[in-house]
Amino acid sequence: MTESLKQKVYEANMMLPKYNLVTFTWGNVSQIDRETGLFAIKPSGVAYEDLSPDDMVIMDLEGNHIEGKLKPSSDTAAHIALYKAFPEIGGIIHTHSTWATSWAQSGRDIPCYGTTHADYFYGPIPCTRDLSEEEYGEYEKNTGLLIAETFSLRHLDYRSIPAVLCRNHGPFAWGKDAQEAVYHGTVLERVAEMAAHGEALNTSIMPAPQAMQDKHYLRKHGRNAYYGQ
Ligand code: 13P
Repeated sequence: MTESLKQKVYEANMMLPKYNLVTFTWGNVSQIDRETGLFAIKPSGVAYEDLSPDDMVIMDLEGNHIEGKLKPSSDTAAHIALYKAFPEIGGIIHTHSTWATSWAQSGRDIPCYGTTHADYFYGPIPCTRDLSEEEYGEYEKNTGLLIAETFSLRHLDYRSIPAVLCRNHGPFAWGKDAQEAVYHGTVLERVAEMAAHGEALNTSIMPAPQAMQDKHYLRKHGRNAYYGQ
């Protein structure tokens, strides 16, 4: 089991340089096996070109290091907090991708300006508040808890908005497995870029009409979805 989990997480991590989501080692992907409660995650600070499947680290949700000779990602505690808070997710990505991070650093939600956004995210992509000074004590764990708090306080559904911007930091995204998490992280980056361009081209830009957002999200998701084969 852990061998196939490591292989999947390795392949998902290697999609980051492929889709231009990382500079140096600024990013990490994990995937959990909900039956055993074990997850695989990228090791901390290793260059993508040097990674191999066997370098992936197996952890449990209590933060115990189960398998692997390298130290896990520095963001491991954030991944754990998210797996605990969002029971239906199976994979998580964190990056410092340029456009999504620019919105995070601006402290702004990404409004839904068109169908590219609405096909994957049902409403604006939220930006969290800043962490308080005390919260930097358990920085990574509190980053994950703050994401969960943001969704809860704003009555957002993590299943229909599978991404968030951590203020002054960068994006996290998730999905049913590591591959889908990377997919959502990639769509987020493209949507963030388009939204920034849209605002530059038209300072009076408005969110897409609600009927368009409904149509595009719901034709791909939920009981009445009909998009695709
Ligand atoms: P790691 O290499 O420890 O996963 O760190 C990458 C990163 O993006 C930190 O925020």
